[in-house]
Amino acid sequence: MVSLDFQSLLEGLPHLLWASGPDGNLDYVSPQWLSFTGAPEEDLLGHGWLASLHPGDQAGTMEAWAKGLRGGENFEIDNRIRRVDGCYRWFKMRAAPKRNELGQICRWQGSQTEMTAELEAREKAELTSSLIDVQRVAKLGTWTMFGDSERLKWSTELYTMFGANPDLPPPSLEDQAHLFLPESWERLTRALELAITEGRPYELELAFRDSDGQLRWLLARGERWRDETGWGLRGTAQDITTLMTAQESLSLQSARMRVATEAAHMGVWELDSDSGRLTWDPIMHELYGTDSHTFGGVHECWRQSIHPDDVAEVDRRLAQSLALGCDFDAAFRIITPCGEQKYLRGKGRVRTGAGSGKSVVGVNWDVTEQHNMELRLQSRERLLQEFVKHVPAAIAMFDKEMRYLQHSQRWLTDYDLSEDLTGRSHYDVFPDIPERWKVVHQKVLRGAVERCDEDPFVRQDGTVEWLSWEVRPWRQDDGQVGGVIMFTHVITARKNLEVLLQQQTAELMRSNHDLEQFAYAASHDLQEPLRAVSGCTQILKSRYEDQLDARAQELIRHIVEGAHRMQTLMLDLLAYSRVDRQGGTIERTSSSGPLREALVNLRQAIEESDARLVVPDKLPEVMADGSQLVMLWQNLIGNAIKYRSERPLEIVMTVVQEGSFWRFSLADNGIGIHARHFERIFLLFQRLHTREEYAGTGIGLALCKRIVERHGGRIWVESEPGRGTIFHFTLEGPE
Ligand code: ADP
Repeated sequence: MVSLDFQSLLEGLPHLLWASGPDGNLDYVSPQWLSFTGAPEEDLLGHGWLASLHPGDQAGTMEAWAKGLRGGENFEIDNRIRRVDGCYRWFKMRAAPKRNELGQICRWQGSQTEMTAELEAREKAELTSSLIDVQRVAKLGTWTMFGDSERLKWSTELYTMFGANPDLPPPSLEDQAHLFLPESWERLTRALELAITEGRPYELELAFRDSDGQLRWLLARGERWRDETGWGLRGTAQDITTLMTAQESLSLQSARMRVATEAAHMGVWELDSDSGRLTWDPIMHELYGTDSHTFGGVHECWRQSIHPDDVAEVDRRLAQSLALGCDFDAAFRIITPCGEQKYLRGKGRVRTGAGSGKSVVGVNWDVTEQHNMELRLQSRERLLQEFVKHVPAAIAMFDKEMRYLQHSQRWLTDYDLSEDLTGRSHYDVFPDIPERWKVVHQKVLRGAVERCDEDPFVRQDGTVEWLSWEVRPWRQDDGQVGGVIMFTHVITARKNLEVLLQQQTAELMRSNHDLEQFAYAASHDLQEPLRAVSGCTQILKSRYEDQLDARAQELIRHIVEGAHRMQTLMLDLLAYSRVDRQGGTIERTSSSGPLREALVNLRQAIEESDARLVVPDKLPEVMADGSQLVMLWQNLIGNAIKYRSERPLEIVMTVVQEGSFWRFSLADNGIGIHARHFERIFLLFQRLHTREEYAGTGIGLALCKRIVERHGGRIWVESEPGRGTIFHFTLEGPE
């Protein structure tokens, strides 16, 4: 039988042992505990041991201790105990009750077992696992290459990144070639070579394809290592695809923006409000005629280039933007270093930086051309306004609600208005406008053009104004009807005159008719008594000639001559008054027939005068009353014979076509007529000679004129005294 010294056995163990009464007051602590803590035994007995625990564990242990005692079963508590050197180490306290034969707890006993190593191992395991997690989250893989064996070690994340099987060794360096894009692989192999040969660390952005064939990016860093075990390379690979994509889209965006601003010739600027620093892109310099060397790059330099009259407003707007955070927007003039003046437009937005400072980022562009165009437009508009205002016609322009936009001065005077009507409604200005005109306005607003040559406007007071008007739409830039333009002409005076004229014409026609009636009746009815006078006188002369003395015979001769003259006058007057009253129909007639008839009637006179008559071989057909044409020829040829000169008489007739008319001309070489009588000779009873010089009634040419005019033609004369006369007249040809 082996006798064991339990006491020394227990105290030889690495555990700290203890025992207590049922109340948990320690009455024994093993020497290991005393030497571990370096505390005297009395400090640890009772509940003193609690003070040697880590302050952070004391309350928890106390509570667990009390709970364990109450539970009366085995229990465990983890806590840290201060070592003699002040370090805390983790211990697991185990407690077990000891019971008497009645089953009551009579003592507690237990141990404190150090578990720091165990914890460290656990911590290390935890750390490794959390490192793997961190690597996963950061998409960061690590690798090591051992130089002698070229053996490779990949971290889990690296396997995930390349979609490789983690149960297999990582692919060899040669096999990795197909993972990367050729250009990236080339750069990587070059960097690896330099790292191996020269120990130069590297940092590269490399493109590769993942297992799904998607293009991805990684940031590869690597360096050479060397220790007692050997040498090699190690490094990290971080998936930066998201970053690269974002960067790519950012650079794409900024490239697009650059192209756009360049195309629009927009300069980009940024003004730091605290420092007053102003950053300009090259287009800004182009706009301002500066370059980065001559331009100071501060706010003040910009201000100096602004036109003195515009600086205050630009300052105000900029200050407002910075104070309120609203957008900056200003149009201003600048003067370039070579003295050129330009109109610029500037826009900007306030940006708050990472610190408290603010900056304004914006653009500038040249609006000189636009500005000049606006000026030109404005001046054209002014010109148009002036034109409309002073044009001597009543013009008014309205919007869609028939409100006056513009009107001429004449509009006011024509309608007896005194003040400017701009902005007022047409229907308020003229409350008596008839409904039918409002309908016209609506039609025009739908795009129609309406006009009327004569329209009565009955005013409120009952007076009538006659208007001639035209209303047409005007269109906006987008082609839509913007309103109407009205042109009116007050024709009341003309209209009244017309009415008067009509009345007078009717009156005249009536009196003319009466006169004709009278002339006809007089000439016709006087024939009879005249014939009686003339007949009786003839009888008196033939029967009583022998019984009458010379004086009586002379008187009888006067009576006979007078009666004859009167008869001729009566006949001429009768012919004249019959032109319209008893004219035949105007029809297609050969002009040669009436001419022949006239020549037959004049045969004796022609023979006596020994006249030479030249007539065209062919004479045209005309629209005429044949018998009146005979009278026309007869009068004209008769006059040529009557008013011949000393020279042998020559009468030449010609005819030419003038449009739908024929012009007949009869030229003689007679005494001629002075130009001042050209009009007069066509009037009734107008003669240029006395009866003694040339016989006549002064009716012939008046009759010719009346005949020609009845046919819709014209008659006129050309002549020179002593040389001859040409009478021209026109007659319409048949269609
Ligand atoms: P009358 O011949 O009866 O006087 P007319 O009306 O035929 O009246 O002519 C008016 C006037 O025109 C004539 O008095 C004459 O002076 C002038 N006259 C007309 N025909 C000619 C002519 N061929 N040559 C010159 N004078 C003419």
